[in-house]
Amino acid sequence: MTLTLGFHGGAGTVTGSRTLLTTDRRQVLVDCGMFQGLKELRLLNWKAPSFDPRSVDDVLLTHAHIDHSGYLPRLVKEGFRGPIYATPATIELVRILLRDAARLQEEDADYANRKGFSKHETALPLFTEADAERALGLLLPVPYDEWIELNGGVRARYSNAGHILGAAHIEVAVSDGGSDTNVVFSGDVGRYHMPLHPDPTPPPRCDTLVLEATYGDRHHSDEPLIQQIRKPFLEALGRGGTILIPAFAVARAQLVTLMLRELMESGALPEVPIHIDSPMAVDVTRIYSRYYGEPELSDSHGGRMRPLFPKNVRFHRTVEESKQLNNLKGPRIIISSSGMLTGGRVLHHLFRVLANPRDLLALAGYQAVGTRGRALEEGAKSLRIHGQDVPVRCHFISLDGFSAHADADELLRWVTSGPALPTRVFVNHGESEASTTLVKRLHDEAGIDAITPGLNERFVFDASSRSWGAKQS
Ligand SMILES: [Zn+2]
Repeated sequence: MTLTLGFHGGAGTVTGSRTLLTTDRRQVLVDCGMFQGLKELRLLNWKAPSFDPRSVDDVLLTHAHIDHSGYLPRLVKEGFRGPIYATPATIELVRILLRDAARLQEEDADYANRKGFSKHETALPLFTEADAERALGLLLPVPYDEWIELNGGVRARYSNAGHILGAAHIEVAVSDGGSDTNVVFSGDVGRYHMPLHPDPTPPPRCDTLVLEATYGDRHHSDEPLIQQIRKPFLEALGRGGTILIPAFAVARAQLVTLMLRELMESGALPEVPIHIDSPMAVDVTRIYSRYYGEPELSDSHGGRMRPLFPKNVRFHRTVEESKQLNNLKGPRIIISSSGMLTGGRVLHHLFRVLANPRDLLALAGYQAVGTRGRALEEGAKSLRIHGQDVPVRCHFISLDGFSAHADADELLRWVTSGPALPTRVFVNHGESEASTTLVKRLHDEAGIDAITPGLNERFVFDASSRSWGAKQS
């Protein structure tokens, strides 16, 4: 048997996840993400991948997030023609996310051309809406917990990873020339004891595990969210103020709504209107609602299921509906994206909230370097919004615990929760500090042989000794 793993993205970074599994007879790409964040990373999207997209037979998609799916339209543009396997819920979400990403790409290129600041004669989008549609046409649904045959001696099985709706870790079994082995790809691992998303299913017995390390060196707060929220929220509502919660449209917006409902129903917070002002969040919440109560979203902790469309939640899809929010009186909660205040409708609300001492701004997730959210966390006294400097006079809190990612302890818990420990773990999809810290913990606390592959490094499996050789660039 010949088996190699190539790490063509998500190596030393948390974006651009692409891992290529190659046998004599099959090439399977697990995830096909876009590089995001710093410019040097984003430029990687424009480089041809170091494998030939035309020779890839199948793509296995762990979940819908753009850092795992956003390169698919480009892969198809570069000649990929095979099936893209994903769970039914992932397919629904990825339709929304890829169309949105394509629209943004086209708008950005258009803007650059009108302003004339592109270095190239004509700025081009990384992919167009037509490219996205071609990729979406290749999606094939796979259920959780059933084997699918990919031919060439390769099979795959998806299990619920908890992370977001539809997310999976994928076991790939390879049998060739009388020997067989398996590799599990963790995708993004979800958290334990969270409402809305179930605990991640334990990994199956495996020889090799490719593990994400987004929070490989972090610990999520032990203080329950309810405790973090209660006092500042009560005070802001008591002042008759607006509470603005910037939140990602997928998973975060739904989780925030659910938690607020829980607090209102238990009497911990007064009943005030919750406005969800993001067209994408409206669409995604609709999908979440359909899966609510199904195994995909079962709450494993019982008795906490709440409808996602309760009576005091109002959805705002159009710009007109969004503008009407400005004229409302009285205390209210507004959830809008983007989650790190980098763009989107949330900026219009931020403009009003920031300068108002009655109001409260509550950040609900990781704020990357260079974003307005990070600037606020670091004590910025004013923010530039739509060309104006706006003083920070509102109240401000940063909530810890809405993350959809397992922290370091939870990653270790997940790795060791299967029937046996993996023989080798490749730690990728993490900044280098997070990855190396997790490698050390896997070794010291679980005795597992773990390494961090670099970008475009390949490793060959020796079937006779059942071990992995040294890296090849
Ligand atoms: Zn993710």
